[in-house]
Amino acid sequence: MSKDLIISCEFFPAKTAKGIANLSKVQHELAAIDPAYYSVTFGAGGGTQDTTFDAVIDIQKNSLRTGIAAAPHLSCIGTTADRVTAMLNSYQAQGIERLIALRGDLPSGMRDPGDFRYASELVSFIRQQTGDHFTIEVAAYPEVHPQASSARVDMDNFKRKIDAGADSAITQYFYNVDAYMQFIDRCQNNGIAIPIIPGIMPINNFAQLARFSDACGAEIPRWLRKRLEEFYDDTASMQAFTLDFLTSFVQTLIDNDVPGLHFYAMNRSEPVLTVCQRLGLCD
Ligand SMILES: Cc1cc2nc3c(=O)[nH]c(=O)nc-3n(C[C@H](O)[C@H](O)[C@H](O)COP(=O)(O)OP(=O)(O)OC[C@H]3O[C@@H](n4cnc5c(N)ncnc54)[C@H](O)[C@@H]3O)c2cc1C
Repeated sequence: MSKDLIISCEFFPAKTAKGIANLSKVQHELAAIDPAYYSVTFGAGGGTQDTTFDAVIDIQKNSLRTGIAAAPHLSCIGTTADRVTAMLNSYQAQGIERLIALRGDLPSGMRDPGDFRYASELVSFIRQQTGDHFTIEVAAYPEVHPQASSARVDMDNFKRKIDAGADSAITQYFYNVDAYMQFIDRCQNNGIAIPIIPGIMPINNFAQLARFSDACGAEIPRWLRKRLEEFYDDTASMQAFTLDFLTSFVQTLIDNDVPGLHFYAMNRSEPVLTVCQRLGLCD
């Protein structure tokens, strides 16, 4: 594997015994790509607080053997400073050293944004409470966050998170390498020097991906959308196509000297493993 690439994989917390067993198997399989850490998402408003914590502790327990650290996501919208402090204390006590600090989106039906409005406020708070203990990752949006009034404003807001103490960033997924490269150039022009790791979303279910992409502002290029639509229920052909696409997409990122690769693994190992094997990133 390329020694310079920081590889990480993201999971969501499983809710059932079957899901937990699957996640354990997936982690075991993905160890072949030698990830620096596995991250676990956190439902904004605290909906997954316990399951996120359990999954994180499970990864952390295994880390002595695997060398793969656990990195919890922590979203701040709809929560209180006291609750965040309690989570930081628990994670610190468990030896966690990396966090993904996010705002999150207020769940429907929840009206009170709580003590934090933006991720930059959460980053400041974590630094205030815990100093340099945690390596803090934040989210970046090469295609502009959907709620931002302009790319300029979004860049200014991204910079606030770095000024508040973020160490590096992971991008929203994208399928357009130019968007990422342009974003990196703009960051450099704005004095942002932290690593910005591309977030890579394997394509499993087109309808689901299209819905999610519309909501989070990630563009599926027209040509790609049209090709994916062609497959209808021919899952095997679609999988073959998406794996070829993803392999060449990741190769292009590597050719452009990205600092790392963050895979939105969605609790599945095959697409990530196949792409990494084809690119010689694992045995
Ligand atoms: C790698 C990654 C992991 C994620 N994991 C999770 C997860 O586990 N759980 C979850 O719920 N969501 C997760 N998300 C989704 C994320 O929570 C949403 O995209 C959310 O809408 C924005 O979160 P943020 O941290 O980027 O917010 P922020 O950085 O706070 O930005 C949100 C919006 O507010 C604007 N803004 C920021 N600061 C200011 C300011 N001072 N004044 C005015 N406007 C401002 C920004 O321009 C942007 O439009 C993840 C996203 C990424 C990219």
